[in-house]
Amino acid sequence: MAIPYDCHTHTTFSDGRNSVEENVRQAEAMGLELVVISDHYWPGDDDLSVRVRRIVDADAESPIHVVPGVEVTAQDTFGTVSLTENEAGLVRFVLADMGGSTKGVAVDPPADLDRYLANVFRATLSLVENPVVDALAHPFNLGRFPASVTPAQLPRSGLREIGAALFEADKAFEIMNQMSWWFPDMLEAQFTLEYAELLALMAAENVKFVLGSDAHSCGAVGAQGWCRRVMDLAGVEKSQVVDLPRKFADGLPHAR
Ligand SMILES: [Zn+2]
Repeated sequence: MAIPYDCHTHTTFSDGRNSVEENVRQAEAMGLELVVISDHYWPGDDDLSVRVRRIVDADAESPIHVVPGVEVTAQDTFGTVSLTENEAGLVRFVLADMGGSTKGVAVDPPADLDRYLANVFRATLSLVENPVVDALAHPFNLGRFPASVTPAQLPRSGLREIGAALFEADKAFEIMNQMSWWFPDMLEAQFTLEYAELLALMAAENVKFVLGSDAHSCGAVGAQGWCRRVMDLAGVEKSQVVDLPRKFADGLPHAR
């Protein structure tokens, strides 16, 4: 049950090791129909339009779809991201994550667990409601933040609320192939079981998923072995995965 795309790859535009062209070549080699170039974009970085032009050129040279995207990070619990609406208009797929710079989660988290979790859910909900965002990147990637929380520790009511909001806003939940990297303190098997339960809960809310490798070197482009394993465990069907190649072939301005 291969999903013929990768919605999340990095290049030397940000912290990836390979060029756009090298990522695209590997995407072709893996038999993909579409690859998104989704580098981080920080205020003060080079003009986003320069990157987009290079990605559009790579698309013209390739038999597969090469989509200009970006990965932005929540700056706080209110869904503020490092991308203006104008900049969002330059790209066609916006992933949003929580990262090392997210205030109230990774930076200065409250010591009280309930208040911390409230921040996590508020930040996640705000990203879903941010109009520039198309998909949540590796959602609930909390294992490397100061207040490490495992998927099973997340209150189910809060998760259901996020699921309902994703469905309502027609935004996607990324299943990221290297998700277990975020949880170095958990046994891999335990992490996978807990994340499968989380995915099953999202699927029950009719959430749509997208698959990404979060490749930081071209060798990982198109990798989805874990994605498919955790989907099987969670009972997520292929029909619940967004058909990005079709969406883009239909010429939609955004992928959702
Ligand atoms: Zn990424």
